Amino acid sequence: MDSPIKIEHLGIAVRNESEAKKTFSALLGCEPYKEEVVESEGVKTIFYRVGESKIELLVATRPDSPVAKFIEKRGEGIHHVAFGVGDANAALQRLGRLDFSAVNAEAKNGADDKLIAFLHPKSVHGVLVELCSDKP
Ligand code: ZN
Repeated sequence: MDSPIKIEHLGIAVRNESEAKKTFSALLGCEPYKEEVVESEGVKTIFYRVGESKIELLVATRPDSPVAKFIEKRGEGIHHVAFGVGDANAALQRLGRLDFSAVNAEAKNGADDKLIAFLHPKSVHGVLVELCSDKP
């Protein structure tokens, strides 16, 4: 229940929403199925389906948001890998016992009706990892 069962999505930080939508709609041959602002994170998310996984475009909604800072520091590109798990809190506890450092003490509400938690890139070789599960 608490090990990843699939790559749920890849999060990609982009500067310009309409240009990125044009690019990814052409690349994937489809339109986004969902757009959602997560006010607490200062981000607009735009979701595409790719088979059983998804692409999540991340657009900053304010200059001091984590995504804006990421782009400022590292430019556009892959921001995080999200693993689908049965229970995000159980996964967080398991990985905490294995000395991974978590960004969140417990899972919180994310976009696309998910419970999400992040592991710090320092403990995963530079990769920001999101754990996500369906809301119970
Ligand atoms: Zn994500």
